[in-house]
Amino acid sequence: MDFLLISPPVANIGQATAALSVLTAHLRSRGWDAHQWDLGIEAFHYFHSVDHLRHCQSIVEQQAADAELRAAAARVVAEIDEAKDALRCSGVERQPDRMSWAFATLRDAGILLTAASRGSHEHDFRHFAIPRALASFEQLDHDIADRDCNPFVAYFEDHALPRLEKQRPRAVGLSISYASQLVPALSLARLIRQHLADTPIVLGGAYLTALGDQVATMPPAVASADAIILHDGEQAIDAWLDAVLKEQGELQAIANLYLVADGEYRRVHRGPFRQTDLDELVSPMWIADGLNLDQYLVPRYAIGLPLSRGCYWGRCVYCNISSQTVGSYRCRSVPKAIADIQAVIAETGSRWFDLPVDSFRPKDLRNLAVGICDAGLAIEWGAEVLFDKGFKDEVIADLARSGCRSLRFGLESGSPATLRAMNKLSRPPVARRILRACKAHGISTAVMFIAGFPSETRAALQETVDFLVDNRASIDQLTVHPYSLVPGSAMARDPGSYGIFLQPPQAVMLPNLPYGNTNPGGVPSGDIPRMIEVLRDALRDHFPDLGTLWSAAIGGWMTFPACCARSGAKDD
Ligand code: SF4
Repeated sequence: MDFLLISPPVANIGQATAALSVLTAHLRSRGWDAHQWDLGIEAFHYFHSVDHLRHCQSIVEQQAADAELRAAAARVVAEIDEAKDALRCSGVERQPDRMSWAFATLRDAGILLTAASRGSHEHDFRHFAIPRALASFEQLDHDIADRDCNPFVAYFEDHALPRLEKQRPRAVGLSISYASQLVPALSLARLIRQHLADTPIVLGGAYLTALGDQVATMPPAVASADAIILHDGEQAIDAWLDAVLKEQGELQAIANLYLVADGEYRRVHRGPFRQTDLDELVSPMWIADGLNLDQYLVPRYAIGLPLSRGCYWGRCVYCNISSQTVGSYRCRSVPKAIADIQAVIAETGSRWFDLPVDSFRPKDLRNLAVGICDAGLAIEWGAEVLFDKGFKDEVIADLARSGCRSLRFGLESGSPATLRAMNKLSRPPVARRILRACKAHGISTAVMFIAGFPSETRAALQETVDFLVDNRASIDQLTVHPYSLVPGSAMARDPGSYGIFLQPPQAVMLPNLPYGNTNPGGVPSGDIPRMIEVLRDALRDHFPDLGTLWSAAIGGWMTFPACCARSGAKDD
């Protein structure tokens, strides 16, 4: 085996990150014996097994925990397998009570895991954190190897190292897509360095890319890798493997590569980051020698086929999507997209496609829809798109004809003033028309909005609430996101222009920057969580599912199944 690409815990239990399947297939097409491994889903099942939870229960009992916790522990141990099975059961997406019970059991399992750690870490099915691990790089250096506070040290020793020692990949990649993967990934990298000292390691992934410049501040002693790759990884990993395994090519010529030099990670290339032409890629590899789709907790596996990258608006001042994707929007040509879909059906049997894209131009999506219809493909699909006036009624009708069941939109605000301040191109009347057209054509809609944008006044927030309530009949799922200042956004680069100022960071490697707000009438950043609670309470009469896991527009892995259920689609 030349290369093993690993997705470490804690990641999405409903879907493997698409980057694994795209990169592995690409490297194989380049002649490498490459394999993928979603270690995250395996770790989930280990920590959420009856045996492990029973062990946690015995610790809690020894602690003489309160009666409520002991009762929850007993219930979790008794019901965890049934809860996991329930979420994999066809039709559960049409049974909100059953989903509620199953997710409550998973949530309680997390309470038990955390309680049994005696406060040393927080761990549930979608989150892992050691409370002070990110306080400094010194602390992080300690915690990634400390088996007292970090359960993944023992887990990797027992479950990851034996496989790595047996398979002996010539190089290993760790893909970090979520914040919850950071500490476990660094723990695993350290163990690989200790036990397979000659194995080159490369780190990459969307989370590291989103952190941008902060990555270069990571001491190499903390991030035990030979290289870090940010942004698109296809050409960079291929060229890095050439250099480290074949001694061919120049590392310095790899545009998206960081190497250790003089005790720190430094970008080796002076030119722009390189982006992948999506039409140069082969179809992703969803199963072969890698993923087991039956492990995921969904009634049917929705294939995360990434048919576009980047955002063609790319100008909202709070967003760093564009800086994560090296700027420009690209999409795969229709013939190749159709071939991808056919390959998925042949390989996996799944006809569900949840496209993990940041945006999709209306004309590109319509062309894809027409291609799907012309090819006679009976599929159901969903995607995240913009409130772009190009989504005219006839476009939406074509999308519906091709099997579109759900569209997710970032409304962000119902206030024209706030939208202008965000430099967001969408406008409420256009959003209203698109939402109604979707409903008219049987497409479920998921809407996200941001609360606490620095210049947003109470009156502006009320405009958003009014918009949502007025359009309740056209919105199936609603998610509220607290405003956060993200590295790489225009607001982070020039905070003074937006009436905010940066505060000294209290931690390292965080996806949100602390800030103060000087906008008249704007919400102080520390008040946003409380404001969100009030907002949720106010909206819950109109949107009873608000805050439930399947109602989340992004990251809610039941969103797509639930949308298919709402649209009346039947199981195969
Ligand atoms: S917020 Fe959405 S529309 Fe705006 S730049 Fe980011 S991805 Fe594009």
